[in-house]
Amino acid sequence: MNTNELIEAEDKYFINTFARQPIVLDHGKGVKVWDKDGNEYIDMFAGIAVNALGHAHPKLVNALQGQVEKLIHVSNIYYNEPAIEYAKKLLPLTEFDRLFYANSGAEANEGAIKLALKYTGKSEIITAKDSFHGRTLLTLAATGHEEYREPYLKNLPQGFIEVPYNDIEAIKEAISDETAAIMLEPIQGEGGVNVPSKKYFDEIAEICAEKDILLILDEVQTGFGRCGTLFAHELFDIKADIMTIAKGVGGGVPMGAFLATEKVAGGFAPGDHGTTFGGGPLVCAAANAVLDTILDEDLLENSKKVGAYFKDKLNELKEKHDKIVDVRGHGLMIGVELSESGAGYVDKLREMGFLINCTAGNVLRFVPPLIITNEEIDKFVEALDKAL
Ligand code: PMP
Repeated sequence: MNTNELIEAEDKYFINTFARQPIVLDHGKGVKVWDKDGNEYIDMFAGIAVNALGHAHPKLVNALQGQVEKLIHVSNIYYNEPAIEYAKKLLPLTEFDRLFYANSGAEANEGAIKLALKYTGKSEIITAKDSFHGRTLLTLAATGHEEYREPYLKNLPQGFIEVPYNDIEAIKEAISDETAAIMLEPIQGEGGVNVPSKKYFDEIAEICAEKDILLILDEVQTGFGRCGTLFAHELFDIKADIMTIAKGVGGGVPMGAFLATEKVAGGFAPGDHGTTFGGGPLVCAAANAVLDTILDEDLLENSKKVGAYFKDKLNELKEKHDKIVDVRGHGLMIGVELSESGAGYVDKLREMGFLINCTAGNVLRFVPPLIITNEEIDKFVEALDKAL
């Protein structure tokens, strides 16, 4: 089938999901991807902050190939080595003691919310406006977008109290005797790359300690070097009780997890939660390769350095183009807020050979692979300059 036939067939057979870009991606290498018609693109989107190592990184490919030949799946009623090896490697790099494997960001958040409710025995979770935690009913209830929740209002789980982001007074007002947890992204991704103040998180930490409220951090988008540190909450020097991960963790294979301190993890008894595929040997082999490569190839430093270079270049563009209202973010998670809709720029830049995304209507979001270089950033900034 050619590109048009494929797009027509999808329109005919698929239940609606995202509005898609009209290209069929075929293969990738490093920061580049190619469509079925042979057009080349620099991938500034990385599958929504997923392909941390870029495309077809040899270490990830080798790890997957080796594991495919050995064992793809076992039931979770048996032990498997890659899953245990990964937990042993990841947890000491965090403030958490235990983890639970899931298959996506939404599923990791579902588990995290269940754990917080079960551990505290309370019923309310404070969440932020413009947050994004997933599309399942429980995570939709936690997500700060009324328009996504509206069709399901009669069936959505109760107990989520939404307050403005980066507003500590609003959190204080929302706290009740039933507050189990405050659930936040350290930097909001889908909401428009919104970076809160350090003071916000400092005060949240104080309130949580004083009132015995859990802090759940959703690092699904911000984790694994995206913001220049292994996890974005390190930027604010705070600790959480539960953290969720997905996207970058598997470098492209569907994997997620929630991590918790020893005390909070004790909230789940055997049988309280489970999944058929979570923590399977194949995805855990991938996760081991991704984490090893991030550390061995110093990709946290690359994210920090190239991200800072990128931000400088974008700030230069801001001087030149009045349409740029703000440039924000950390590491390689950067948003450029425009004074107009960003949708047209996504099309324009795709036609110029760059994949980007627009979120919150007017924020161009850049979350490229962590291996990207200054030279590739230069090419992109030149194109963005022209497009603007
Ligand atoms: N949390 C955050 C912060 C996200 O950005 C996303 C996805 N954009 C999710 C959760 C949901 O992840 P998934 O699509 O894997 O369910």
